[in-house]
Amino acid sequence: MAVCNLLLQADCEGPYPHLLCRLLRHTNVPLPDNPRCDPSEDWQKLRHYLDGYGGIIGTVRDQLNEHSNIVYRPLESFLLPSPWYRGRVVLIGDAAHATTPHLAAGAMMAVEDALVLSELLVAHESLDEVLVKFMQRRFERCRMVVENSATLGRYELEEVAIETHKKLQADSWQAMAAPI
Ligand SMILES: Cc1cc2nc3c(=O)[nH]c(=O)nc-3n(C[C@H](O)[C@H](O)[C@H](O)COP(=O)(O)OP(=O)(O)OC[C@H]3O[C@@H](n4cnc5c(N)ncnc54)[C@H](O)[C@@H]3O)c2cc1C
Repeated sequence: MAVCNLLLQADCEGPYPHLLCRLLRHTNVPLPDNPRCDPSEDWQKLRHYLDGYGGIIGTVRDQLNEHSNIVYRPLESFLLPSPWYRGRVVLIGDAAHATTPHLAAGAMMAVEDALVLSELLVAHESLDEVLVKFMQRRFERCRMVVENSATLGRYELEEVAIETHKKLQADSWQAMAAPI
């Protein structure tokens, strides 16, 4: 996806001290050429991108300054074609399926990989059988997360109807809630 991601981690004061002391927020901005940017200007850019927001986001935006901790980087996702193993080596987690943050599920998929792999290793003697079954249980689910997350990012950039966005998000979360 040709976008850049500004991750804001800002101290938050004001009317919400009981709710949070730190806020994490992603802002996706289309920057197809991924230009090299001056980090000292990030806070002004982020303030501009968050223009028009109210509530907590508006409160944090108004507190941004040159000391704000802002991470700016391109968003990339990646899905290794099946199989993720060769011989006795198998890749799991981001090494096999790194995803954009729109479903907030990258770590979850990595943990699931580890759980499924350990469950299979305990249940089966043959490593070949374990690895084949591992791919059967993992590939489609991780593909769904990587692809749907990227699609949600595209929806944000293209300002697709919020109902469409919500439906894909809900469908994805429902699929992730199903047993592995
Ligand atoms: C800003 C941000 C927010 C996120 N939010 C969420 C969220 O809300 N929910 C969620 O589920 N996921 C989230 N994720 C995704 C999640 O962090 C990753 O999917 C997850 O950490 C992947 O785990 P992993 O063990 O596969 O890889 P990593 O966590 O990347 O671990 C790989 C490790 O290998 C080490 N390493 C790399 N190269 C070498 C080397 N040559 N030698 C030795 N060590 C090496 C690295 O230092 C690292 O410690 C987020 C990610 C980011 C960046």
